[in-house]
Amino acid sequence: MNTFSIIFLIAIAISFSIQYWLSRRQHSYVLKHKNAVPDAFKDKVALDAHQKAADYTVEKGRLGDIESLFGMILLIILTLGGVINWLFEFWANLGLSTMLSDLAAVASIVVLMTLLEMPSSYYQTFVIEEKYGFNKSTVAQFFKDQVIALALITSIGMPLLALILWVMDSVGELWWLYAWAILISFSLLMSWLFPTVIAPLFNKFTPMEDGSLKDRIQGLLARCGFSSNGIFIMDGSKRSGHGNAYFTGMGNNKRIVFYDTLIESLEEEELEAVLAHELGHFKCKHVIKMLVASSVMTLISFAILGWLITENWFFSGLGVETQSNAAALLLFALVSPVFTIFMQPISAYFQRKFEFEADDFASQNAKASKMISGLVKLYEENASTLTPDPLYSAFHYSHPPAAIRIAHLEGKS
Ligand SMILES: [Zn+2]
Repeated sequence: MNTFSIIFLIAIAISFSIQYWLSRRQHSYVLKHKNAVPDAFKDKVALDAHQKAADYTVEKGRLGDIESLFGMILLIILTLGGVINWLFEFWANLGLSTMLSDLAAVASIVVLMTLLEMPSSYYQTFVIEEKYGFNKSTVAQFFKDQVIALALITSIGMPLLALILWVMDSVGELWWLYAWAILISFSLLMSWLFPTVIAPLFNKFTPMEDGSLKDRIQGLLARCGFSSNGIFIMDGSKRSGHGNAYFTGMGNNKRIVFYDTLIESLEEEELEAVLAHELGHFKCKHVIKMLVASSVMTLISFAILGWLITENWFFSGLGVETQSNAAALLLFALVSPVFTIFMQPISAYFQRKFEFEADDFASQNAKASKMISGLVKLYEENASTLTPDPLYSAFHYSHPPAAIRIAHLEGKS
């Protein structure tokens, strides 16, 4: 323990208190508005659907509170409790090379954390989602997903980590600049490979059949001057009743993906409007802007780590006795979210700004009225609350709250 340990504990307490306070506000705001559908939705959403959304929101929020409390305790046990230190020493004493024992130590923590997070993810799927009629997954499917995800993290993440550790050891003081370049190239490669290599490990993608919907979509793509590598339907209903549509990939490997659940619940013109919104994110350069912003943030993080890695107090303050590059990377990844919580509302603000711009694009290239009716259906079917707490949504929501978003679209129609 040193001064940095105290600062770390205070930062954890502040970060947890803010999140807990916001969650309490959300909880009581949603319940307070549970018994009346807001005016803007009076003739569109039934009272029982509105009440279901309130209960679902509150129940998910409660689980979220427990998860963040648990996460806070776990982080303290891993660091100040000495678990990370013990694991690094354990592997170092086995007589392996430094590289192998470092990789094994990091892998042990990743596996440990994945296992500890599993019960809450299980509860979310088979208790909460089940209760509200969203869960379509089976226990076998759930564990299969977990195993594939862990295998992916290990087979892709470990070689990447090994490369970064090697660079840190070999290129001298400016290692963080090289490591940053490697990480950015790697994440670009991953987003390029995602639609054709990674996503198919979890879901089946079927090209959309010819017909009026496909014609309509191709018309929209032509109007917007957008080329893609195909329009696909994904078997989202294998796991959940929640519907969505998205763009994936980059460069010449872009795909348009509709969840089968979305196709079932929306009319053709509504699907067209939803897709026009997604196209808006590309056309308004949101994807590039987010990419640049995250590259800059990563560069700043690496530069800070380049400094911290030479400071003994950083390690000892977080319960690690022997300085090493691998321990520094791990500690930094685990601990930095505690110090950057103030970034959350800023990033959420920009995401919501992008959503408005994409809605503007959608209303220029499809019908705003269909965007509205499609959104209302999605809010209702996904049991998303129409009445979030203003502060909670300002802090956490990547999309504008329902009433504000619809009012904005109504101004465009
Ligand atoms: Zn959007």
